[in-house]
Amino acid sequence: MKKIVLFALVWVVLITQNSLAQTASAKHLPIIDVHVHAMKVNANFASDMSPWFLSNMPGTDPNEPTPKFLNADGAIMLKAAHSDEEFQDELMQTMKRLNMTIVASGDPQVIRNWKKAAAPDRVIPSIGFSSASGISVQAFEDSLKTGFYKVVGEVGLQYQGLSPSDPLVDKYFEVAERLNVPVAIHMGTGGNGMANLTSPKYRASMGNPLLLEDLLARHPKLKVWVMHAGYPMIDEMIALMGANSHVYVDLAGMIWSYPLEEIHMYLRRLVQAGFGKRIMYGTDLMVWPKLLETSLGVIENANYLSFEQKRDIFFNNAVRFFRLDPSKYQ
Ligand SMILES: [Zn+2]
Repeated sequence: MKKIVLFALVWVVLITQNSLAQTASAKHLPIIDVHVHAMKVNANFASDMSPWFLSNMPGTDPNEPTPKFLNADGAIMLKAAHSDEEFQDELMQTMKRLNMTIVASGDPQVIRNWKKAAAPDRVIPSIGFSSASGISVQAFEDSLKTGFYKVVGEVGLQYQGLSPSDPLVDKYFEVAERLNVPVAIHMGTGGNGMANLTSPKYRASMGNPLLLEDLLARHPKLKVWVMHAGYPMIDEMIALMGANSHVYVDLAGMIWSYPLEEIHMYLRRLVQAGFGKRIMYGTDLMVWPKLLETSLGVIENANYLSFEQKRDIFFNNAVRFFRLDPSKYQ
């Protein structure tokens, strides 16, 4: 009888340990999304979106209406959030479920709300600039010195037709280098007809990753990552990363807008060229909460990548780039 009780006890202990282990392992492996836009939900902009909508980019005639930026007639439709609360709630739930940390730029109040709702370490605030006529260099430096912002981005010079090496904006980069803050620069992607749509100053040529060379030479301590991986300029991206070992990239935006086969060709080429340790995961999240899962799924299903290579993209590379303590994010 005693033996049976002992056996039962051991069995219960084993079962308990096992289920504890299962609970622990049920926690999703950590993910860092380095490219999230914190914005107030604007009912005019917040239309539903069909991912990979740039699989078809029909041309238009200058005398006809410009094409729509987003396509909303695909089989998969991502619903836009209707309010700030709805968006925040869905974002927080997904972040918790998928054990996510985000680098967020945009509306400071929205960023503060998210920091309050999530664990503070899980939202890393970022401050951007897009020209020399927006925030002054002094105000920019003061903002960084408050310690609230840990990252500079999204730097949207391309939309203003400016090169990242343009002397006009050099002082901003000088501040970031001096304060040891990493910088994220939009390069490459522009959708279908960006110059005809909302940004007449947008220049595809200003998304050439090689335009970063002079900036990097002037600021050897500056830590830069190229947003959207400089898509579609793969050769230039590889050349730049080869010449400048500090440069990383993120995969944001391109992985849910351009044709899937094209995305995988681009990502595969970056890894094949030897840069698997310098690719960071990013969404370019705006108003569609389910875009997180959509984008993550693209990397999860990249069967040419090993488990370790995916973990590097989802987490390890960002930890190294941002000099984070990985134990805080497990
Ligand atoms: Zn961008």
